[in-house]
Amino acid sequence: MAVLLAVRAASRGVCCHLHLTPFASSTRSFSEKLTSKSKTERSGAESTVDHLIYTQEHFALKESLNKIIEQEINPFVDKWEEECMFPAHRVFKILGNAGFLGVNKPIEYGGLGLDFSYSVAVAEELGNIRCGGIPMAIGVQSDMATPALARFGSAELKKEFLQPTIAGDKVVCLGVSEVGAGSDVASIKTKAVRKGDDLIINGGKMWTTNGTQADWMCLLANTSEGPPHRNKSLICLPMKLPGIHIARKIDKIGMRSSDTAEIYFEDVRVPYKNIIGEEGMGFTYQMLQFQEERLWGVANVLTAMDNIIRETIDYTRQRKIFQQPILHHQTVHFRLAELQTEVELLRSLLYHATAMYIRGIDVTKLASMAKLKAGRLAREAGDGCLQFWGGMGFCSDVLVSRFYRDSRLLSIGAGADEVMLSIICKYMDTLPKK
Ligand SMILES: Cc1cc2nc3c(=O)[nH]c(=O)nc-3n(C[C@H](O)[C@H](O)[C@H](O)COP(=O)(O)OP(=O)(O)OC[C@H]3O[C@@H](n4cnc5c(N)ncnc54)[C@H](O)[C@@H]3O)c2cc1C
Repeated sequence: MAVLLAVRAASRGVCCHLHLTPFASSTRSFSEKLTSKSKTERSGAESTVDHLIYTQEHFALKESLNKIIEQEINPFVDKWEEECMFPAHRVFKILGNAGFLGVNKPIEYGGLGLDFSYSVAVAEELGNIRCGGIPMAIGVQSDMATPALARFGSAELKKEFLQPTIAGDKVVCLGVSEVGAGSDVASIKTKAVRKGDDLIINGGKMWTTNGTQADWMCLLANTSEGPPHRNKSLICLPMKLPGIHIARKIDKIGMRSSDTAEIYFEDVRVPYKNIIGEEGMGFTYQMLQFQEERLWGVANVLTAMDNIIRETIDYTRQRKIFQQPILHHQTVHFRLAELQTEVELLRSLLYHATAMYIRGIDVTKLASMAKLKAGRLAREAGDGCLQFWGGMGFCSDVLVSRFYRDSRLLSIGAGADEVMLSIICKYMDTLPKK
Protein backbone atom coordinates (compact mmCIF):
# COMPACT_ATOMS: atom_id res chain seq x y z
CA MET A 1 0.00 0.00 0.00
CA ALA A 2 1.28 3.41 -0.92
CA VAL A 3 2.04 5.66 1.98
CA LEU A 4 1.37 9.35 1.80
CA LEU A 5 3.92 11.56 3.44
CA ALA A 6 3.95 15.30 3.49
CA VAL A 7 7.13 16.54 1.94
CA ARG A 8 8.28 20.08 1.81
CA ALA A 9 9.93 20.97 -1.44
CA ALA A 10 12.46 22.91 0.59
CA SER A 11 13.91 25.11 -2.09
CA ARG A 12 10.52 26.50 -2.97
CA GLY A 13 8.72 26.14 0.34
CA VAL A 14 5.95 24.33 -1.50
CA CYS A 15 4.04 21.60 0.28
CA CYS A 16 3.24 18.52 -1.71
CA HIS A 17 2.52 14.86 -1.20
CA LEU A 18 5.05 12.24 -2.01
CA HIS A 19 3.75 8.71 -2.34
CA LEU A 20 6.37 6.35 -1.07
CA THR A 21 6.17 2.63 -1.40
CA PRO A 22 6.77 0.28 1.45
CA PHE A 23 10.34 0.11 0.12
CA ALA A 24 10.85 3.63 1.25
CA SER A 25 8.64 3.69 4.26
CA SER A 26 8.84 0.27 5.84
CA THR A 27 11.55 0.90 8.34
CA ARG A 28 11.94 4.62 8.80
CA SER A 29 10.04 7.79 8.19
CA PHE A 30 10.99 9.97 5.27
CA SER A 31 12.55 12.65 7.48
CA GLU A 32 14.55 10.06 9.37
CA LYS A 33 15.84 8.80 6.06
CA LEU A 34 16.95 12.28 5.14
CA THR A 35 18.89 12.86 8.32
CA SER A 36 20.27 9.36 8.76
CA LYS A 37 22.50 9.63 5.73
CA SER A 38 24.56 12.75 6.06
CA LYS A 39 25.32 14.66 2.91
CA THR A 40 29.01 14.00 3.23
CA GLU A 41 28.40 10.23 3.30
CA ARG A 42 27.07 10.27 -0.24
CA SER A 43 29.46 9.26 -2.94
CA GLY A 44 30.52 10.75 -6.28
CA ALA A 45 28.38 13.47 -7.79
CA GLU A 46 25.91 13.06 -4.92
CA SER A 47 28.40 14.15 -2.28
CA THR A 48 28.11 17.82 -3.20
CA VAL A 49 26.85 19.66 -0.15
CA ASP A 50 25.35 22.50 -2.14
CA HIS A 51 24.23 20.74 -5.27
CA LEU A 52 23.47 22.95 -8.24
CA ILE A 53 19.84 21.81 -8.61
CA TYR A 54 19.19 18.96 -6.17
CA THR A 55 17.97 19.30 -2.59
CA GLN A 56 17.82 16.58 0.05
CA GLU A 57 14.35 15.75 -1.27
CA HIS A 58 15.80 14.96 -4.69
CA PHE A 59 18.32 12.59 -3.13
CA ALA A 60 15.65 10.95 -0.98
CA LEU A 61 13.50 10.44 -4.06
CA LYS A 62 16.43 8.85 -5.89
CA GLU A 63 17.21 6.59 -2.97
CA SER A 64 13.62 5.42 -2.77
CA LEU A 65 13.51 4.73 -6.52
CA ASN A 66 16.81 2.87 -6.34
CA LYS A 67 15.24 0.32 -3.99
CA ILE A 68 12.49 -0.41 -6.50
CA ILE A 69 15.03 -0.72 -9.31
CA GLU A 70 17.18 -3.16 -7.36
CA GLN A 71 14.27 -5.26 -6.07
CA GLU A 72 11.63 -5.12 -8.80
CA ILE A 73 13.43 -4.42 -12.06
CA ASN A 74 17.12 -5.33 -12.24
CA PRO A 75 16.70 -8.98 -11.20
CA PHE A 76 14.47 -9.50 -14.28
CA VAL A 77 16.22 -7.39 -16.89
CA ASP A 78 18.19 -10.24 -18.52
CA LYS A 79 15.02 -12.30 -18.90
CA TRP A 80 13.06 -9.37 -20.37
CA GLU A 81 15.89 -8.52 -22.74
CA GLU A 82 15.88 -12.13 -23.94
CA GLU A 83 12.10 -12.13 -24.36
CA CYS A 84 12.22 -8.75 -26.18
CA MET A 85 9.41 -7.51 -23.95
CA PHE A 86 8.88 -6.41 -20.37
CA PRO A 87 5.55 -6.40 -18.49
CA ALA A 88 4.81 -2.68 -18.75
CA HIS A 89 1.55 -2.81 -16.79
CA ARG A 90 3.15 -4.61 -13.86
CA VAL A 91 6.28 -2.44 -13.72
CA PHE A 92 4.38 0.82 -14.24
CA LYS A 93 1.90 -0.07 -11.50
CA ILE A 94 4.75 -0.46 -9.03
CA LEU A 95 6.27 2.85 -10.12
CA GLY A 96 2.86 4.53 -10.20
CA ASN A 97 2.02 3.41 -6.68
CA ALA A 98 5.25 4.97 -5.50
CA GLY A 99 4.59 8.26 -7.34
CA PHE A 100 7.42 8.01 -9.86
CA LEU A 101 5.31 8.37 -13.02
CA GLY A 102 4.19 11.91 -12.33
CA VAL A 103 6.70 13.71 -10.16
CA ASN A 104 6.17 17.02 -11.97
CA LYS A 105 2.49 16.45 -12.78
CA PRO A 106 -0.40 18.18 -10.99
CA ILE A 107 -1.35 16.83 -7.57
CA GLU A 108 -5.06 16.83 -8.48
CA TYR A 109 -4.37 14.11 -11.07
CA GLY A 110 -2.16 12.04 -8.80
CA GLY A 111 1.16 13.71 -9.55
CA LEU A 112 3.59 14.99 -6.93
CA GLY A 113 3.37 18.60 -8.14
CA LEU A 114 7.14 19.04 -8.04
CA ASP A 115 9.19 20.87 -10.64
CA PHE A 116 11.02 19.33 -13.60
CA SER A 117 14.31 19.04 -11.71
CA TYR A 118 12.71 16.12 -9.84
CA SER A 119 11.95 14.41 -13.16
CA VAL A 120 15.60 14.89 -14.08
CA ALA A 121 16.62 13.29 -10.77
CA VAL A 122 14.29 10.35 -11.45
CA ALA A 123 15.62 9.99 -15.01
CA GLU A 124 19.18 9.94 -13.67
CA GLU A 125 18.30 7.25 -11.16
CA LEU A 126 16.53 5.17 -13.81
CA GLY A 127 19.91 5.05 -15.56
CA ASN A 128 20.80 2.41 -12.94
CA ILE A 129 18.47 -0.06 -14.66
CA ARG A 130 20.77 -2.50 -16.40
CA CYS A 131 19.49 -1.85 -19.90
CA GLY A 132 18.29 1.12 -21.95
CA GLY A 133 14.93 -0.24 -23.08
CA ILE A 134 13.04 -0.19 -19.78
CA PRO A 135 14.09 3.34 -18.73
CA MET A 136 13.09 4.54 -22.19
CA ALA A 137 9.66 2.93 -21.87
CA ILE A 138 9.21 4.50 -18.43
CA GLY A 139 10.32 7.87 -19.81
CA VAL A 140 7.67 7.68 -22.55
CA GLN A 141 5.06 7.15 -19.85
CA SER A 142 6.25 9.87 -17.46
CA ASP A 143 7.93 12.59 -19.54
CA MET A 144 7.49 12.12 -23.28
CA ALA A 145 3.84 11.36 -24.05
CA THR A 146 2.19 13.28 -21.20
CA PRO A 147 3.69 16.81 -20.79
CA ALA A 148 1.35 18.37 -23.39
CA LEU A 149 -1.73 16.74 -21.87
CA ALA A 150 -0.75 17.92 -18.39
CA ARG A 151 -0.12 21.45 -19.63
CA PHE A 152 -2.81 22.04 -22.23
CA GLY A 153 -5.40 19.24 -21.91
CA SER A 154 -8.96 19.73 -20.66
CA ALA A 155 -9.84 18.60 -17.13
CA GLU A 156 -11.97 15.84 -18.66
CA LEU A 157 -9.07 14.46 -20.74
CA LYS A 158 -6.69 14.69 -17.81
CA LYS A 159 -9.10 12.72 -15.66
CA GLU A 160 -9.60 10.06 -18.31
CA PHE A 161 -6.03 9.69 -19.55
CA LEU A 162 -3.46 11.49 -17.39
CA GLN A 163 -4.63 10.32 -13.98
CA PRO A 164 -4.56 6.55 -14.75
CA THR A 165 -1.24 6.98 -16.55
CA ILE A 166 0.36 8.61 -13.53
CA ALA A 167 -1.13 5.86 -11.36
CA GLY A 168 0.36 3.20 -13.64
CA ASP A 169 -3.07 1.80 -14.51
CA LYS A 170 -2.80 2.75 -18.18
CA VAL A 171 0.23 2.47 -20.45
CA VAL A 172 0.76 5.27 -22.96
CA CYS A 173 2.72 5.52 -26.20
CA LEU A 174 3.70 8.50 -28.34
CA GLY A 175 2.67 8.48 -32.01
CA VAL A 176 4.70 11.06 -33.88
CA SER A 177 7.03 9.22 -36.31
CA GLU A 178 5.67 7.55 -39.42
CA VAL A 179 7.09 5.29 -42.12
CA GLY A 180 7.65 8.32 -44.35
CA ALA A 181 8.32 10.99 -41.71
CA GLY A 182 10.66 10.86 -38.74
CA SER A 183 13.09 13.77 -38.70
CA ASP A 184 10.68 15.88 -40.73
CA VAL A 185 7.76 15.87 -38.29
CA ALA A 186 5.93 18.55 -40.26
CA SER A 187 5.46 16.14 -43.17
CA ILE A 188 3.46 13.44 -41.34
CA LYS A 189 0.50 12.08 -43.33
CA THR A 190 -1.86 10.66 -40.68
CA LYS A 191 -5.16 12.52 -40.86
CA ALA A 192 -7.92 13.09 -38.35
CA VAL A 193 -10.94 14.52 -40.16
CA ARG A 194 -13.85 16.01 -38.24
CA LYS A 195 -17.25 14.36 -38.72
CA GLY A 196 -19.85 15.86 -36.40
CA ASP A 197 -18.65 15.40 -32.84
CA ASP A 198 -16.01 12.86 -33.87
CA LEU A 199 -12.67 12.62 -35.63
CA ILE A 200 -12.05 9.87 -38.21
CA ILE A 201 -8.41 8.83 -38.21
CA ASN A 202 -6.54 7.23 -41.11
CA GLY A 203 -2.80 6.64 -41.53
CA GLY A 204 -0.16 4.96 -39.45
CA LYS A 205 2.67 5.36 -36.97
CA MET A 206 6.13 3.80 -36.94
CA TRP A 207 8.68 3.10 -34.19
CA THR A 208 6.09 3.40 -31.45
CA THR A 209 7.67 2.58 -28.07
CA ASN A 210 5.23 0.70 -25.78
CA GLY A 211 3.07 0.37 -28.92
CA THR A 212 2.06 -3.27 -28.50
CA GLN A 213 1.12 -2.83 -24.83
CA ALA A 214 -0.31 0.68 -24.74
CA ASP A 215 -3.85 1.53 -23.62
CA TRP A 216 -3.73 4.93 -25.30
CA MET A 217 -1.58 6.95 -27.65
CA CYS A 218 -0.71 10.63 -27.65
CA LEU A 219 -1.19 10.92 -31.41
CA LEU A 220 0.02 13.69 -33.69
CA ALA A 221 -2.24 13.98 -36.75
CA ASN A 222 -3.19 16.50 -39.42
CA THR A 223 -6.58 17.95 -38.57
CA SER A 224 -6.78 20.48 -41.42
CA GLU A 225 -5.23 21.36 -44.77
CA GLY A 226 -3.44 24.47 -43.47
CA PRO A 227 0.33 25.14 -43.32
CA PRO A 228 2.27 22.20 -41.79
CA HIS A 229 3.05 23.95 -38.52
CA ARG A 230 -0.56 25.02 -37.94
CA ASN A 231 -2.58 22.06 -39.23
CA LYS A 232 -1.74 19.42 -36.62
CA SER A 233 -3.29 18.39 -33.33
CA LEU A 234 -2.31 16.10 -30.50
CA ILE A 235 -5.10 13.64 -29.76
CA CYS A 236 -5.71 11.19 -26.91
CA LEU A 237 -6.40 7.97 -28.78
CA PRO A 238 -7.56 4.84 -26.89
CA MET A 239 -5.77 1.87 -28.43
CA LYS A 240 -8.49 -0.75 -28.17
CA LEU A 241 -10.75 0.85 -30.81
CA PRO A 242 -11.93 -0.83 -34.03
CA GLY A 243 -9.64 0.05 -36.95
CA ILE A 244 -6.38 0.12 -34.95
CA HIS A 245 -4.00 -2.56 -36.19
CA ILE A 246 -0.64 -3.42 -34.65
CA ALA A 247 1.08 -4.35 -37.91
CA ARG A 248 4.23 -5.73 -36.30
CA LYS A 249 6.60 -5.66 -33.38
CA ILE A 250 9.92 -4.43 -34.73
CA ASP A 251 13.09 -6.48 -34.15
CA LYS A 252 15.93 -4.18 -33.07
CA ILE A 253 19.68 -4.38 -32.41
CA GLY A 254 19.26 -2.71 -29.02
CA MET A 255 16.63 -1.57 -26.52
CA ARG A 256 15.45 -5.13 -26.83
CA SER A 257 13.23 -5.33 -23.76
CA SER A 258 11.23 -2.35 -25.01
CA ASP A 259 8.51 -3.20 -27.52
CA THR A 260 8.45 -1.05 -30.66
CA ALA A 261 5.44 -1.21 -32.95
CA GLU A 262 4.28 -0.27 -36.40
CA ILE A 263 0.61 0.69 -36.18
CA TYR A 264 -2.11 1.42 -38.75
CA PHE A 265 -5.37 3.35 -38.42
CA GLU A 266 -8.33 2.57 -40.63
CA ASP A 267 -11.36 4.82 -40.10
CA VAL A 268 -10.76 4.99 -36.36
CA ARG A 269 -13.42 7.09 -34.64
CA VAL A 270 -12.65 9.16 -31.53
CA PRO A 271 -14.53 12.08 -30.00
CA TYR A 272 -13.41 15.51 -31.24
CA LYS A 273 -13.03 16.55 -27.60
CA ASN A 274 -10.04 14.17 -27.39
CA ILE A 275 -7.90 16.88 -29.00
CA ILE A 276 -5.38 18.17 -26.46
CA GLY A 277 -5.69 21.93 -26.04
CA GLU A 278 -6.34 23.95 -29.15
CA GLU A 279 -6.89 22.35 -32.55
CA GLY A 280 -4.00 23.18 -34.90
CA MET A 281 -1.48 23.65 -32.07
CA GLY A 282 -0.25 20.04 -32.06
CA PHE A 283 3.06 20.74 -33.79
CA THR A 284 3.91 23.48 -31.32
CA TYR A 285 2.83 21.35 -28.35
CA GLN A 286 4.95 18.45 -29.62
CA MET A 287 8.00 20.68 -30.03
CA LEU A 288 7.54 21.81 -26.41
CA GLN A 289 7.06 18.21 -25.33
CA PHE A 290 10.33 17.31 -27.06
CA GLN A 291 12.27 19.61 -24.70
CA GLU A 292 11.38 17.50 -21.69
CA GLU A 293 11.95 14.28 -23.66
CA ARG A 294 15.45 15.41 -24.66
CA LEU A 295 16.52 16.59 -21.21
CA TRP A 296 15.11 13.39 -19.73
CA GLY A 297 17.14 11.30 -22.21
CA VAL A 298 20.35 13.16 -21.34
CA ALA A 299 19.84 12.68 -17.60
CA ASN A 300 19.15 9.01 -18.09
CA VAL A 301 22.25 8.23 -20.14
CA LEU A 302 24.57 10.10 -17.75
CA THR A 303 24.12 7.49 -15.03
CA ALA A 304 24.43 4.66 -17.53
CA MET A 305 27.76 6.13 -18.68
CA ASP A 306 28.95 6.48 -15.07
CA ASN A 307 28.10 2.81 -14.60
CA ILE A 308 29.91 1.45 -17.64
CA ILE A 309 33.00 3.53 -16.85
CA ARG A 310 32.95 2.24 -13.25
CA GLU A 311 32.46 -1.37 -14.36
CA THR A 312 35.27 -0.99 -16.87
CA ILE A 313 37.56 0.28 -14.10
CA ASP A 314 36.63 -2.73 -11.93
CA TYR A 315 37.16 -5.21 -14.76
CA THR A 316 40.44 -3.76 -15.99
CA ARG A 317 41.77 -3.48 -12.44
CA GLN A 318 41.40 -7.20 -11.80
CA ARG A 319 42.42 -8.53 -15.23
CA LYS A 320 46.13 -8.73 -15.88
CA ILE A 321 47.94 -8.51 -19.21
CA PHE A 322 51.73 -8.34 -19.60
CA GLN A 323 52.14 -8.83 -15.82
CA GLN A 324 50.02 -5.85 -14.81
CA PRO A 325 46.35 -4.92 -14.59
CA ILE A 326 44.94 -3.59 -17.87
CA LEU A 327 43.99 -0.45 -15.95
CA HIS A 328 47.62 0.32 -15.14
CA HIS A 329 48.41 0.94 -18.78
CA GLN A 330 48.39 4.69 -19.10
CA THR A 331 46.37 4.68 -22.30
CA VAL A 332 43.57 2.90 -20.41
CA HIS A 333 43.31 4.99 -17.25
CA PHE A 334 43.86 8.22 -19.18
CA ARG A 335 41.08 7.33 -21.64
CA LEU A 336 38.67 6.52 -18.82
CA ALA A 337 39.57 9.82 -17.14
CA GLU A 338 38.84 11.65 -20.40
CA LEU A 339 35.47 9.98 -20.73
CA GLN A 340 34.50 10.72 -17.11
CA THR A 341 35.50 14.36 -17.68
CA GLU A 342 33.19 14.57 -20.69
CA VAL A 343 30.38 13.00 -18.67
CA GLU A 344 30.80 15.66 -15.98
CA LEU A 345 30.79 18.44 -18.58
CA LEU A 346 27.54 17.10 -20.00
CA ARG A 347 26.08 16.83 -16.50
CA SER A 348 26.85 20.51 -15.91
CA LEU A 349 25.10 21.46 -19.14
CA LEU A 350 22.07 19.38 -18.16
CA TYR A 351 21.80 20.97 -14.72
CA HIS A 352 22.26 24.44 -16.21
CA ALA A 353 19.51 23.82 -18.79
CA THR A 354 17.24 22.29 -16.13
CA ALA A 355 17.74 25.22 -13.75
CA MET A 356 16.75 27.61 -16.54
CA TYR A 357 13.82 25.47 -17.67
CA ILE A 358 12.22 25.39 -14.22
CA ARG A 359 12.44 29.19 -14.18
CA GLY A 360 10.38 29.25 -17.38
CA ILE A 361 13.24 30.21 -19.71
CA ASP A 362 13.29 28.80 -23.26
CA VAL A 363 16.03 26.14 -23.27
CA THR A 364 15.51 24.80 -26.78
CA LYS A 365 19.11 25.59 -27.76
CA LEU A 366 20.66 24.17 -24.58
CA ALA A 367 18.43 21.07 -24.61
CA SER A 368 19.39 20.43 -28.26
CA MET A 369 23.08 20.90 -27.45
CA ALA A 370 22.83 18.52 -24.51
CA LYS A 371 20.94 15.92 -26.57
CA LEU A 372 23.50 16.17 -29.39
CA LYS A 373 26.42 15.82 -27.01
CA ALA A 374 24.77 12.98 -25.10
CA GLY A 375 24.24 10.93 -28.27
CA ARG A 376 27.80 11.43 -29.42
CA LEU A 377 29.39 10.90 -26.02
CA ALA A 378 27.37 7.73 -25.41
CA ARG A 379 28.71 6.30 -28.67
CA GLU A 380 32.25 7.26 -27.70
CA ALA A 381 31.94 5.94 -24.15
CA GLY A 382 30.29 2.67 -25.25
CA ASP A 383 32.95 2.04 -27.87
CA GLY A 384 35.86 3.21 -25.68
CA CYS A 385 34.89 1.12 -22.66
CA LEU A 386 33.98 -1.96 -24.67
CA GLN A 387 37.46 -1.96 -26.21
CA PHE A 388 39.12 -2.46 -22.80
CA TRP A 389 37.02 -5.56 -22.10
CA GLY A 390 38.57 -7.38 -25.07
CA GLY A 391 36.59 -10.43 -26.14
CA MET A 392 34.41 -10.15 -23.04
CA GLY A 393 33.12 -6.84 -24.39
CA PHE A 394 31.91 -8.65 -27.47
CA CYS A 395 29.65 -10.94 -25.39
CA SER A 396 26.04 -9.92 -25.13
CA ASP A 397 25.75 -10.54 -21.40
CA VAL A 398 27.98 -7.75 -20.06
CA LEU A 399 26.57 -4.31 -19.35
CA VAL A 400 29.05 -2.52 -21.57
CA SER A 401 28.01 -4.41 -24.71
CA ARG A 402 24.32 -3.84 -23.95
CA PHE A 403 25.03 -0.15 -23.47
CA TYR A 404 26.99 -0.10 -26.75
CA ARG A 405 23.90 -1.41 -28.59
CA ASP A 406 21.20 0.46 -26.66
CA SER A 407 22.79 3.88 -26.56
CA ARG A 408 23.22 4.01 -30.34
CA LEU A 409 19.59 5.08 -30.49
CA LEU A 410 20.30 8.36 -28.72
CA SER A 411 21.82 9.91 -31.85
CA ILE A 412 18.75 8.88 -33.88
CA GLY A 413 15.61 8.95 -31.71
CA ALA A 414 13.82 12.05 -30.41
CA GLY A 415 15.48 14.06 -33.16
CA ALA A 416 18.66 12.82 -34.85
CA ASP A 417 22.02 14.57 -34.27
CA GLU A 418 21.56 16.47 -37.54
CA VAL A 419 18.15 17.72 -36.40
CA MET A 420 19.76 18.96 -33.16
CA LEU A 421 22.46 20.69 -35.21
CA SER A 422 19.81 22.38 -37.37
CA ILE A 423 18.02 23.69 -34.25
CA ILE A 424 21.29 24.96 -32.76
CA CYS A 425 22.15 26.64 -36.07
CA LYS A 426 18.72 28.27 -36.16
CA TYR A 427 19.41 29.77 -32.73
CA MET A 428 22.89 30.83 -33.87
CA ASP A 429 21.29 32.40 -36.95
CA THR A 430 23.56 30.41 -39.25
CA LEU A 431 20.97 28.20 -40.93
CA PRO A 432 20.46 29.28 -44.56
CA LYS A 433 16.89 30.50 -45.12
CA LYS A 434 14.84 28.39 -47.56
C1 LIG B 1 13.83 2.11 -30.88
C2 LIG B 1 13.11 3.33 -31.36
C3 LIG B 1 12.09 3.85 -30.59
C4 LIG B 1 11.39 4.97 -31.03
N1 LIG B 1 10.30 5.41 -30.31
C5 LIG B 1 9.49 6.35 -30.85
C6 LIG B 1 8.24 6.67 -30.23
O1 LIG B 1 7.88 6.16 -29.18
N2 LIG B 1 7.44 7.57 -30.86
C7 LIG B 1 7.79 8.19 -32.02
O2 LIG B 1 7.03 9.02 -32.51
N3 LIG B 1 8.98 7.90 -32.63
C8 LIG B 1 9.81 6.99 -32.07
N4 LIG B 1 11.00 6.67 -32.69
C9 LIG B 1 11.33 7.32 -33.96
C10 LIG B 1 12.52 8.22 -33.91
O3 LIG B 1 12.22 9.41 -33.23
C11 LIG B 1 12.94 8.43 -35.38
O4 LIG B 1 13.58 7.24 -35.77
C12 LIG B 1 13.85 9.61 -35.57
O5 LIG B 1 13.14 10.80 -35.38
C13 LIG B 1 14.47 9.60 -36.98
O6 LIG B 1 13.49 9.48 -37.95
P1 LIG B 1 13.63 8.38 -39.11
O7 LIG B 1 13.94 7.07 -38.47
O8 LIG B 1 12.44 8.44 -39.96
O9 LIG B 1 14.89 8.81 -39.92
P2 LIG B 1 14.92 9.85 -41.13
O10 LIG B 1 14.05 11.00 -40.83
O11 LIG B 1 14.69 9.10 -42.39
O12 LIG B 1 16.41 10.33 -41.06
C14 LIG B 1 17.50 9.46 -41.43
C15 LIG B 1 18.80 10.16 -41.14
O13 LIG B 1 18.89 11.35 -41.93
C16 LIG B 1 19.76 12.25 -41.29
N5 LIG B 1 19.14 13.58 -41.19
C17 LIG B 1 18.00 13.92 -40.61
N6 LIG B 1 17.78 15.25 -40.69
C18 LIG B 1 18.85 15.76 -41.35
C19 LIG B 1 19.24 17.07 -41.74
N7 LIG B 1 18.48 18.13 -41.47
N8 LIG B 1 20.41 17.21 -42.41
C20 LIG B 1 21.19 16.15 -42.67
N9 LIG B 1 20.87 14.89 -42.34
C21 LIG B 1 19.72 14.70 -41.67
C22 LIG B 1 20.04 11.69 -39.89
O14 LIG B 1 21.32 11.10 -39.85
C23 LIG B 1 18.97 10.65 -39.72
O15 LIG B 1 19.35 9.62 -38.81
C24 LIG B 1 11.74 5.59 -32.23
C25 LIG B 1 12.80 5.08 -33.00
C26 LIG B 1 13.47 3.96 -32.59
C27 LIG B 1 14.56 3.40 -33.48
